[in-house]
Amino acid sequence: MKIYIDGNYYDEASAKISVFDHGLLYGDGIFEGIRIYNGRVFKLKEHIDRLFYSAKAILLTIPMGHAELMKTVVDTCRENKLQEGYIRLVVTRGVGGLGLNPNKCKKPSIIVIADKIQLYPVEHYERGLDIITVPTVRNLHSALNPAIKSLNYLNNILAKIEANNGGCEEAVMLNSEGYVSECTGDNIFILKGGKMFTPPLAAGALYGITRGVVIELAEAEGIKVTEPNLTRYDLFNADECFLTGTGAELIPVVKIDGRVIGEGKPGPVTRKLVSLYHSLTKVSGEPIYP
Ligand code: PMP
Repeated sequence: MKIYIDGNYYDEASAKISVFDHGLLYGDGIFEGIRIYNGRVFKLKEHIDRLFYSAKAILLTIPMGHAELMKTVVDTCRENKLQEGYIRLVVTRGVGGLGLNPNKCKKPSIIVIADKIQLYPVEHYERGLDIITVPTVRNLHSALNPAIKSLNYLNNILAKIEANNGGCEEAVMLNSEGYVSECTGDNIFILKGGKMFTPPLAAGALYGITRGVVIELAEAEGIKVTEPNLTRYDLFNADECFLTGTGAELIPVVKIDGRVIGEGKPGPVTRKLVSLYHSLTKVSGEPIYP
């Protein structure tokens, strides 16, 4: 595997950054997770846009323009001869002293890792996931806005540990007001009476790229999608529930906190959206081998 770091490619064993990088010392940096399908980078522009928004929010100047960064990602995929895969694009604050001050970091680092994808076991998609609400509350937007895809994922990791301790793969995270925000690495949707609902971004969710694609797909099918505040009551009474994310794609949820959702199996609208999503990923994206 060839890993891109600041203008050069390195083998896995020699791809290294400094222990003084504030990305490591403080989680000071940002990232994106992007998919490669059928020799194309899916929704690349949207991911690069979100990276630049995250950068702006933490006053980090990415040392590369939008177009050049897109090209760097595509070149790294080509260098690794990938047809299917997962890209991790990271921008760290760079090397600084042992103090917090980001002004001491003079040069942010850009890292691109393009690897094969490790998918969730196929049974999860066929049978649906069993998830739980966890006590760790989603970060307040007035503290560390969940819209920033930062290298500090401890809020999500603590929730993930709680889910694992409860025998589940994913956790529903509530915000400080008790409304549903999102899962540790996925956005959440429900269907009720033919209408689709997902929490508003202000409830403490990432502006999910998959979330946006799924809203468009549903609306094109004539399904009304709105973004009201949702409570656990709404989840428990849903006809269908599913999660969305770059890695997970669309994954059905059949149990929440031990309560059966709908019929207890992946619902018809979820299955339809999964199939539309797969059709789209096959044909859409930035070509790696034009
Ligand atoms: N929420 C969180 C906390 C995430 O980390 C992610 C990405 N894995 C998502 C939602 C889904 O976003 P996307 O569809 O852009 O991958």
